[in-house]
Amino acid sequence: MSIALNLDHASATRPQVKSRKPLVGLSKPDLAQALVDIGISEKESRMRASQLWNWLYVNGATEFERMTNIGKGVRQVLADNFRIDRPEIVSEQVSTDGTRKWLFRFRDPASPNMPPVDVETVYIPEEDRGTLCVSSQVGCTLTCSFCHTGTQKLVRNLTAGEILGQMLMARERLGDFPGGQRPADGGLVPSGDNRAITNVVMMGMGEPLYNYDNVKQALLIASSGEGMSLSKRRITLSTSGVVPYIEPTGREIDVMLAISLHAVRDELRDMLVPINKKWPIKELLDACRNYPGLSNARRITFEYVMLKDINDSDADARELVRLLAGIPAKINLIPFNPWPGTNYDCSSSERIEKFADIVNRAGYASPVRTPRGRDIYAACGQLKSETERLSKKDRDALAAL
Ligand code: SAH
Ligand code: SF4
Repeated sequence: MSIALNLDHASATRPQVKSRKPLVGLSKPDLAQALVDIGISEKESRMRASQLWNWLYVNGATEFERMTNIGKGVRQVLADNFRIDRPEIVSEQVSTDGTRKWLFRFRDPASPNMPPVDVETVYIPEEDRGTLCVSSQVGCTLTCSFCHTGTQKLVRNLTAGEILGQMLMARERLGDFPGGQRPADGGLVPSGDNRAITNVVMMGMGEPLYNYDNVKQALLIASSGEGMSLSKRRITLSTSGVVPYIEPTGREIDVMLAISLHAVRDELRDMLVPINKKWPIKELLDACRNYPGLSNARRITFEYVMLKDINDSDADARELVRLLAGIPAKINLIPFNPWPGTNYDCSSSERIEKFADIVNRAGYASPVRTPRGRDIYAACGQLKSETERLSKKDRDALAAL
């Protein structure tokens, strides 16, 4: 059973003022510059930028009015020039297992006349952690054959502010900001931590490394001690294998890396994860070996979706172990989550166990990921919004980025 709420978020009725620049997602220097641009002195701007970051990311403010350490006059100037609103909530569903899925609606601040886009964000509470699964794009340009998101064309990249907006809105709904209310409808929060969201995974809709700059900017703010203060060890970026951006991810963002491997032979991986035709397994694993900061304490997670009679034989398991030799790695076996129209089936639990056994005996921890939120269609690879495609012209413009 799941509960679906349709919420009328306040911002839906707020008048949209075209020229107000969104502040969420700006680095501190960029924020200070935005203040200079509206006539605030450089010195004051630096101080205000720090105050604003604190209000936005630590206190979760959505109104300048709340910012009581900023004078009333300046607050008014800020409100006239900038926006700090969050996405609208189109729906919020709660699974019987406590998993929550939101459909968030964003309007593109750069083109306010374009139709809004919808993205899905999922919260997964467990005993010792609470993980937020965040989207990086609306749809995906890639077409992995077992992934529901892959059947939806790319609509557009999300901005850094929109990526952070998912985290901020989830925090608000889970009562994670100071003075916030925990959800009344049975939302479990992990024990031993005073925050509902302890981990973030870039495993929602989209390929994060095809939206590198915005993802980087968002994750640097999420992990900053003056921003959302999430430890970089608790942020994981999952990629299907965009090789040229793997090294920069480690060097510039320095978060944990997950690779959607799913096959051990190029011939099969070309079919399952077509980006493999561009960057085949050997190149991908070479990039992994050179991932900055890689060590036994900071392993790469290799994701492997278990597809019946496709990639789940004993020989596949042994080849997986052979391929990963020498790379500090964890292997995450994901039972395939079916969706309407797919031709794949999930491997049987006996087969998954046997596969896991071979991998375990080779010395790898290989947890089998328990599907969460299946009743609300929130499990891995099931996310797909109904947002329509943009015009060909807009898609071409995006592809040229
Ligand atoms: N685009 C990125 C991140 C999003 S997908 C990537 O591909 O890595 C997060 C994980 O879910 C990936 O490992 C993806 O391959 C996997 N996945 C996709 N569809 C799935 C499905 N139907 N069942 C199980 N896992 C799936
Ligand atoms: Fe895109 Fe990842 Fe789905 Fe592949 S698995 S289509 S890269 S979201």
